[in-house]
Amino acid sequence: MYIDGSWVEAQTGATREVYDPADQSVIGVVPEGDATDVKRAVAAARRAFDEGPWPRMAATERAALLFRVADLLEEKLDEFALIDTLDSGKPLRDSAGDASDAVGCLRYYAGLVDKPLGQAYNVSDPDTQSFVVREPLGVCAQIIPWNYPLMMAVWKLAPCLAAGNASVIKPSVNTPLSAIRFFELLEEAGLPAGVANLVLGSGSTVGQALVEHPGVDKVAFTGGNVSGRKIMQAATGTFKNISLELGGKSPCIVFDDVDMDVAVDWALFAIFCNQGEVCSAGSRLLLQSSIHDDFVQRLAARAQRIRVARGTEEGAEMGPLVSVEHMQRVLDYIELGRKEGATLLCGGERLTSEQFAKGNFVAPTIFDHCTSDMRIVREEIFGPVLTVQTFETEEEAVALANDSKYGLAAGVFCRDVSRAFRVIKALRAGITWINAYHPTFNQAPWGGYKESGIGRELGTFGLEEYTEVKQININLADGPVGWFAN
Ligand code: NAP
Ligand code: MG
Repeated sequence: MYIDGSWVEAQTGATREVYDPADQSVIGVVPEGDATDVKRAVAAARRAFDEGPWPRMAATERAALLFRVADLLEEKLDEFALIDTLDSGKPLRDSAGDASDAVGCLRYYAGLVDKPLGQAYNVSDPDTQSFVVREPLGVCAQIIPWNYPLMMAVWKLAPCLAAGNASVIKPSVNTPLSAIRFFELLEEAGLPAGVANLVLGSGSTVGQALVEHPGVDKVAFTGGNVSGRKIMQAATGTFKNISLELGGKSPCIVFDDVDMDVAVDWALFAIFCNQGEVCSAGSRLLLQSSIHDDFVQRLAARAQRIRVARGTEEGAEMGPLVSVEHMQRVLDYIELGRKEGATLLCGGERLTSEQFAKGNFVAPTIFDHCTSDMRIVREEIFGPVLTVQTFETEEEAVALANDSKYGLAAGVFCRDVSRAFRVIKALRAGITWINAYHPTFNQAPWGGYKESGIGRELGTFGLEEYTEVKQININLADGPVGWFAN
């Protein structure tokens, strides 16, 4: 762990093994922190923020450091890709893309901090000049999941540090390794002690202690809704600023005027990229009924050809799921889908032949003839499982798409421009695509409606989440206020 500018073990000396989900082999042993380590880390962050140079230095100086970190990371893309692939299971092609995006994210926020910020007002009193500046929030607890280990760490740290805050970050117990390596780069780039601290350990101990700590000003969380709810409740103690990036059950809607092969290709990517372990996965496919039969036939044929393999294998397209527990959860949902009466088109099982025997490999799975009351349609599975439903009219498509407690993402495939835009405008979701699914950009805000979260990451919105707004009023006149008798 990295606390106050030093590499440390857990105060108790406890450790935890880290696994490669392709074969359950132990690939590392890391410290297992607890509330005592959290206290040390928050105290260090507090000092760095309250007394240290970081929030007070020129924004361009902070930016220069982040540009250095981006350069260091860019030199080691292959190493970081390998770490995340071994730790999380995802194919190298995916983890290499994540590492490049992380470099882009660092550069984006380093470049943003000295751009115009704040507002000035002409108020009702001509003798007052009013304006607003943005200031760093303070000490931020940042809690991240395992599906994009490096990228989630950078999405959190880049805007937080650029804005002048201090951080204590906790990665998932499943995937701590790339965060550790990334902190070596922060150190090498010369980040002052205490500005960013890395504490490892479980959500129920380290995470909970961070969220409850009175020295923490903000909690930024990405993860599931069950943990999100606990975090929101724990944060009420000291009215912490919170941002939550939560789950999804996002629709991918296909109208009958599309080029079928192109739409099949995107629909496949929408659900099966990163093993379906994507918060914004297009996990509900909604098809206009006239194209249904043809579409699902082509889709299932292609899904069965997806190259499932160990993530380090050349040409791997889908790796193992992150942990045995998570795989079991996904398999339980598949079993449930059968019981609920959905039609299994392909997959539906754990892969157990020789090369898969020790790993958490699940075949790409598609359930057809699903209905909105099924739990496999309503609940986030977070794995390679797609449900298919049909609609007749545009209104029906919108109603089906919006029939979810989630509202993270949505895709619409349609050649009729007016219809595509009408449908997008009617959808209650924060991230949407027309004739595409998934492309994500550091410049544009990321986050959901409804139970998919609170706040936005990335873009200018992401920087604002790490600032407080200060109103400043300057009295241009010299006299007294004269309100009371003199
Ligand atoms: P998770 O179980 O909620 O865990 C996320 C992080 O929170 C982990 O570091 C976890 O610690 C920690 N945590 C758990 N309970 C906590 C508590 N009571 N207090 C503080 N921290 C706590 O989620 P996951 O299974 O890792 O990730 C999958 C979920 O993340 C999915 O629901 C997915 O949709 C969501 N996600 C959302 C986005 C988005 O941008 N909207 C992006 C990626 C993922 P441990 O290390 O002990 O697990
Ligand atoms: Mg692992």
